[in-house]
Amino acid sequence: MAQLLDGKAVAKVLKEEVREEIAKWKEKGVQPKLAVILVGDDPASVVYARSKQKVAEGMGMAFELFTMPSDTLEADILKQINLLNNDKDVHGIMIELPLPKGISKNVITSAVQPNKDVDGGHPINRGYILSGEEGLFPATPESCIELLLRSGVEIAGKHVVLVGRGETVGKPLVFMILKYNATVTICHSKTPDLGAFTRQADILIAAVGRAKMIKKDMVRPGAIVVDAGINEIPGGICGDVDFEGVQEVASLISPVPGGVGSLTTALLMRNVLKGIVLQGGTR
Ligand code: NDP
Repeated sequence: MAQLLDGKAVAKVLKEEVREEIAKWKEKGVQPKLAVILVGDDPASVVYARSKQKVAEGMGMAFELFTMPSDTLEADILKQINLLNNDKDVHGIMIELPLPKGISKNVITSAVQPNKDVDGGHPINRGYILSGEEGLFPATPESCIELLLRSGVEIAGKHVVLVGRGETVGKPLVFMILKYNATVTICHSKTPDLGAFTRQADILIAAVGRAKMIKKDMVRPGAIVVDAGINEIPGGICGDVDFEGVQEVASLISPVPGGVGSLTTALLMRNVLKGIVLQGGTR
């Protein structure tokens, strides 16, 4: 039976580290601040924005939420982003996604100053993932890596098989985990005989968005399984991995909830602090 990759326990340590770091910035006279822009009233986005506020404020970080109606013009969102780009008291800007129809995600995410882009969606930050330069990188792929490392898993030399090449998780993760010297295989919806690839994984990471699609017979006995998926099912959420079956063969497995998703907000706050340094702040 697999042991758990315990996201909640890792998140607790991570939050404490971020909290201490915030306190140090404050001692130096810098009040770290995150600004979130929420356009429209997508219920999940409202919940996510509020939960970020709770975590930020609980850690001693200043937080400001800018809500705009769903019929807001793209130009007005850009104006708001520009104000925040130029506000020296704001160190991180996050745009809640999805944006309402008719508003270009690319235009909006590209308008955020790269060193305040805590969601890591700006093309310059995407480029830094490839070049290996310091930048702001997306929280969910970072969570997968932190969860492994902080659970004592050595990534170097391991064969990591990623299922999913989405913009949010899979694609950035390819190059983020490559930095840790993994050998990486990427699978997607056009991969024939998916199981033939997943069974070769020392570390299998699922980022697909399909409930419980990774079954026990797709996992090599003893493999480590990280589930980045979040799928709504009647009565709650589940991952992309069939946890009940796969835990019988894996050596380590991350649950959903309680795995990858538990770390993301803390990592977002850590990006705000990284942003301060990238903006020229010194402690
Ligand atoms: P996308 O929808 O952008 O991408 C899904 C990927 O899965 C695509 O590459 C697609 O292939 C692939 N795929 C779809 N069906 C299959 C299949 N049958 N076999 C193999 N591959 C398949 O996903 P995201 O990157 O946005 O998100 C991935 C998951 O991560 C989702 O479950 C999402 O909810 C979750 N997520 C979790 C977060 C967290 O905090 N834990 C935060 C953000 C996302 P193709 O490219 O060929 O279409």
